[in-house]
Amino acid sequence: MCGIVGYIGGRSASPVLIDGLKKLEYRGYDSAGVAVFNGDVVEVKKTKGRIADLEKKLSAEGISSGCVGIGHTRWATHGAPDDVNAHPHKGGNGRITLVHNGIIENYIELKIMLEQKGYKFVSQTDTEVLAHLFDFFYSGDSLKAMSNVMKTVRGSYAVAVLIDGRPDEIIAARKDSPLIVGLGENENFLASDIPAVLKYTRDCYLLDDNQMALLKQSSVKLYDIDGNEVHKDIYHVTWDVEAAEKGGFDHFMKKEISEQPKTVHDTVTPRIKDGKVVIDELGLSDEDIKNIGTIHIVACGSAWHVGTAARYIIEKLARIPCEVDLASEFRYRNPIIKENDICLVISQSGETADTLAALREAKSKGARTISIVNVIASTIARESDDVIYTMAGPEIAVATTKAFSAQLCVSYLLALKFAKAKSLLSESDEEKYCAEILRLPELIEGILKTDSALKELAKSYADSENVFFIGRGLDYAISLEGSLKLKEISYIHSEAYAAGELKHGTISLIEDKTPVFAVATQSDLNEKTLGNIKEVKARGARVIALVGENHSAADEFADDIIRLPEISDFLMPSLAVVPLQIFAYYMALGRGCDVDKPRNLAKSVTVE
Ligand code: GLU
Repeated sequence: MCGIVGYIGGRSASPVLIDGLKKLEYRGYDSAGVAVFNGDVVEVKKTKGRIADLEKKLSAEGISSGCVGIGHTRWATHGAPDDVNAHPHKGGNGRITLVHNGIIENYIELKIMLEQKGYKFVSQTDTEVLAHLFDFFYSGDSLKAMSNVMKTVRGSYAVAVLIDGRPDEIIAARKDSPLIVGLGENENFLASDIPAVLKYTRDCYLLDDNQMALLKQSSVKLYDIDGNEVHKDIYHVTWDVEAAEKGGFDHFMKKEISEQPKTVHDTVTPRIKDGKVVIDELGLSDEDIKNIGTIHIVACGSAWHVGTAARYIIEKLARIPCEVDLASEFRYRNPIIKENDICLVISQSGETADTLAALREAKSKGARTISIVNVIASTIARESDDVIYTMAGPEIAVATTKAFSAQLCVSYLLALKFAKAKSLLSESDEEKYCAEILRLPELIEGILKTDSALKELAKSYADSENVFFIGRGLDYAISLEGSLKLKEISYIHSEAYAAGELKHGTISLIEDKTPVFAVATQSDLNEKTLGNIKEVKARGARVIALVGENHSAADEFADDIIRLPEISDFLMPSLAVVPLQIFAYYMALGRGCDVDKPRNLAKSVTVE
């Protein structure tokens, strides 16, 4: 959530900062600002709105061409998204300039303490406390001041600080919010995420929690919270900057939807060898798997929908009891975790604050933790006992598509692996399912070719105000995702219901022409779902049925039909989700929405 960048080197800092902030736009924000040294003092320019608004301000008012600076995009948590609350913030009598990502939980008590000492606050943010607190602790030693700040505050932060009179350094620190240092030749960079620095360098330090970084033009030193120097391996980025750029597509979301065949291929092929599932990253022996008590699946948003699907699949194939929790709830319900339980966490960014907190909760209660994560070396990846990476590459659009598909595939592989270890899967079935999984990219490719039909379909539903999604079992999990996709980017109200639950309330909302997506891809449940289709149809709904090729029973009742290639039922989610993503995309586009950066949302949700 929000973005931090920093630069120290020989170039004019402001264009480098703006460029870096643009690469972090996908993270979501509502205001932006930069601070650059002008001689010994730091100049700040900031504004609510988009980076384009900041650029306008910079060209109208100008800013120093100095070579050291920090920049920020803010996703407001404390105080409205306005010019005053935008970062950077000043501390002391203006000698400290600071940007922050995260939330300071004890900011009220600190604010009272600082006000008593004469500090004057101008914003409503929790961040301003950090700026004044840094000033309070600063008497010439920036590391010491930062260390004291870190020991005094509670909450999450990535911070970067400039100090008037010290134009030769940037000091930064992190806890529970990502921060990386890009290492250049006689120049160094700071950023919330790698794409911001990739134009300049492929060598990075990925800061750990409670670490500080001191950036100078020709050196970077890392320290622990007590100020002891620490040494870290350099992380060399192997993917290309183009992977994080649009490559001819109008939107990242469209590009990422179209990358799904490759994503699925890259995620599954290294883990299927000679018709067998091989997950080298999984540190569980067959004996361990046989002994698993319960799998606690924990995630947020779309990843939680993957978790919901994973429960059906793991329980069906491997007969291991699963519980699926929203990470933000799991942590606070004092979950019961027994010996031999596993916690499976799913997160694209690997930085989702709620999911990270849930992972830590499960760990503290003795669970072995397995994570399905996309961003390499992210915090969740580093803190889990086993991490299975999805090979989706950088996902920039806020609404996930390809990472979702990759997560689904990992859950198939895990379910097969568990079933095999428990002798519930014959070799021939394993081979058959593996062959089907390997065919998914080609089948998804086929669905992508129906793009123009889906575009037309979206056109005919463009003025809908409410859209419902219904399905049973795995179709329910996909309904949840289809509904979220639609509402998050098109702002159309939408709900997903387990098809059998509809009659217990929601059916009262069905009126003449209300669109209902009926997802019916599960052969053993289709008859039942058909019954529910009839129920809504009888009440005037306009039904779009999403069915397998050989399923014709709904033809008579559906107004529109989307047919999917046939494959084993448990793999159907990978096919069913694609038309729903494309439909949502065109609905949002038709309504003029900012598809890649929907309002109020952030990509990497690093606040609880
Ligand atoms: N809590 C801070 C604020 O509201 C920082 C928010 C962010 O992470 O952008 O200004």
